Amino acid sequence: MPELPEVETVKRTLNQLVAGKRIRSVTVKLPRIIQRPAEPEAFADALSGRTIREVDRRGKFLRILLDGLVLVSHLRMEGRYGVYDADEPVEPHTHVIFHFDDNTELRYKDVRQFGTMHLFKPGEEFALPPLNKLGIEPLEPEFTLDALRGALGKRTSRIKPLLLNQEYVVGLGNIYVDEALFQAGIHPERTGDSLKKAEWERLYEAIRATLERAVEAGGSSVKSYVNGQGEMGMFQHQLLVYGRKDEPCPNCGEPIRKLVVGGRGTHICAKCQPLRAKAAKAEKR
Ligand SMILES: [Zn+2]
Repeated sequence: MPELPEVETVKRTLNQLVAGKRIRSVTVKLPRIIQRPAEPEAFADALSGRTIREVDRRGKFLRILLDGLVLVSHLRMEGRYGVYDADEPVEPHTHVIFHFDDNTELRYKDVRQFGTMHLFKPGEEFALPPLNKLGIEPLEPEFTLDALRGALGKRTSRIKPLLLNQEYVVGLGNIYVDEALFQAGIHPERTGDSLKKAEWERLYEAIRATLERAVEAGGSSVKSYVNGQGEMGMFQHQLLVYGRKDEPCPNCGEPIRKLVVGGRGTHICAKCQPLRAKAAKAEKR
């Protein structure tokens, strides 16, 4: 599933490709992608004649700002956007097509069909699902050490599910949580309330550094993810533990282990990320 760096990459790419274009009409081939309004015809009618001003992001959601409307789009597992000339053949699994005045098209393709689109009046989108309960943006100034610790520091759940929960901090998914916890030297099964001050500091820095480097690299290409221009992100080559089961830990050489935490496949170095807080303390220089 695309996480913050991948969605950020799609956002930047779409800004280059579709900002300023006027939608002539919209074809909805798979009505279930359209969550709001209920009728796909109403969705298509509302968008016809509108110009895309800017593409923004909130957590893992794209916010496509048009004159007088906001389209909120979630790619979920395998959704992707591409811009094509109108006479190019439409690929299978293309579910929504935005036809522009200049004879190009923005096409939404989604093999798994889990993606969603919601249409709102500007500003209304933050008060209603799916954006109304989202937490802190980790690349914005609002993400501070105090904000992170304030959101999670008293919680008795394990830190990995806490970081995956979009109501606290947005944008992190399985890949970047594993990477950040490894960099911070924190076992994913430690509870929020067990982390010490120095651990919160390491975790805070690790989240920012991991996401910033991944955004710079254009995100990770894992499975079928590609950005809006059909280019592959390159960050998967910099992943330290995710997808590297049995490979040596880049810090200590121990084999990376894979376990299941909260139902999610999780990659750790058991030596660098000890489960007991005491052991973690002893490891610190
Ligand atoms: Zn290690």
